[in-house]
Amino acid sequence: MTDFCIFCAIAAADAPASIVAEDENAVAFLDLHPLTTGHTLVIPRRHVTDVLDADGAIGEVAALLEGTSRLLVDKLGADGLNVFQATRAAAGQTVFHLHFHLLPRWSGDGLLAMHEIRSRVSESLETTHARLVG
Ligand code: 5GP
Ligand code: ZN
Repeated sequence: MTDFCIFCAIAAADAPASIVAEDENAVAFLDLHPLTTGHTLVIPRRHVTDVLDADGAIGEVAALLEGTSRLLVDKLGADGLNVFQATRAAAGQTVFHLHFHLLPRWSGDGLLAMHEIRSRVSESLETTHARLVG
């Protein structure tokens, strides 16, 4: 790749980051603007842009994602955890190197749970299912 990528730079130790865990394939570091205490990003070392470009990179981060989730919950005493990923600008992606957000959660921390987000879907499940597998 030719364009500068801040997450490639972090993975190569060419840019500073608060790294909390790493292995040969992936790096986990604290998000610069945490939504909850311990908000962490898990990235593959190699540059892929998103889930639709992953080419196996999701498997490469899986072990570190599991281990870092355990670390965050155990060391911070969290009650739970969200795993979140944005692919492409329409989904809110702002850094175009694949990353998974790990959000430690505490009971009553005020951040929305997924079931609290009001649904705007009008299409029936039957129609959607037919579009996908019909
Ligand atoms: P996205 O919006 O693409 O899902 O998430 C990008 C995340 O990367 C944001 O939460 C943002 O705070 C974080 N971020 C952007 N630049 C940097 C950086 O240079 N260092 C760190 N640690 N986090 C960053
Ligand atoms: Zn990159």
